[in-house]
Amino acid sequence: MQRIDDLLRAGTTLSFEFFPPKTPEALATFREAFGDLATLAPDFASMTYGALGSTRTETEGLVNGLNADHAFPTMPHLTCVGHTREQLVRLITSYRDAGVKNILALAGDPPADGSDPGEFVYASELIPLIREIGDFAVGVAAFPEVHPRSASHAEDRARLLAKLDLADFALTQFFWETRHYVQLVEELEALGSTTPVLPSVMPMVSVPGIRRMTTMNGATFPPALDERMAAVDGDPEATRALGIDVAVELSRELLDYGVPGLHLCAMNRAASVRKITDRLGLRAAA
Ligand code: FAD
Repeated sequence: MQRIDDLLRAGTTLSFEFFPPKTPEALATFREAFGDLATLAPDFASMTYGALGSTRTETEGLVNGLNADHAFPTMPHLTCVGHTREQLVRLITSYRDAGVKNILALAGDPPADGSDPGEFVYASELIPLIREIGDFAVGVAAFPEVHPRSASHAEDRARLLAKLDLADFALTQFFWETRHYVQLVEELEALGSTTPVLPSVMPMVSVPGIRRMTTMNGATFPPALDERMAAVDGDPEATRALGIDVAVELSRELLDYGVPGLHLCAMNRAASVRKITDRLGLRAAA
């Protein structure tokens, strides 16, 4: 199984993000979407872990199975907040033993009730543990518009720089304007970082949903997009079409800028992603 840092060195990557389904029906939908998008021969896929209320327990089994069944790697996201060292060692060892070569090391969100986050608080504390257990390529999260818990822009970039020194690549939170990604990359370069930063692109499917997620992630909409969204709110088909248009526009700008790859958040559906890759001419549809 390939390492993502090697893939990034070899050329511009195309990758898709999925989340672990909760019900048998959702599992069937996920399997159909994953199988469909696998025919586009992505460089890798990733699978979230406990994000947005999704399950933690399913990620391990799905990721280990997908790495065994497909020629391209699937990278598990792994959060450390609220876990004991023993739990993390067990999980990382399971990935290593299944031949998984890539892990996205994340902090996760602190407990909503303000209780003790446990032995691990920051993503940077998880990276040495992952390296101790196996020869993984380790990715980390980067927030172009700064992490919502960062005290200041300068502190966000300083903490990110320290984290990138320990990691092999970064994957961004989604954003709506190329300039945020460009600013992040240029600031990191000015600070001396050479770690590749992969942009995430989110095809919106619901206006209230994307507004909520954008606010939660500390991202912002440009006024022109805000207006386009208001015009389709309540119309699922028009929203999906806008999501595809916006993802294509953003991806084109990012590719023109020279990103190391594109990470499309598939949200366990193939249709929008297929239209986006078709319009970008990224992979001949199989
Ligand atoms: P960190 O890098 O640890 O940073 C968190 C905050 O702490 C930042 O403000 C940082 O500046 C600050 N900080 C870092 N180190 C220190 C230090 N030593 N002292 C003081 N402050 C410090 N969440 C999930 O639950 N599951 C997922 O699958 C998931 N996938 C994600 C994928 C991507 C691409 C991204 C961008 C986010 C994802 N998240 C996921 C969300 C993530 O877990 C949250 O944003 C979380 O709040 C922060 O995680 P982090 O790894 O960025 O944290």
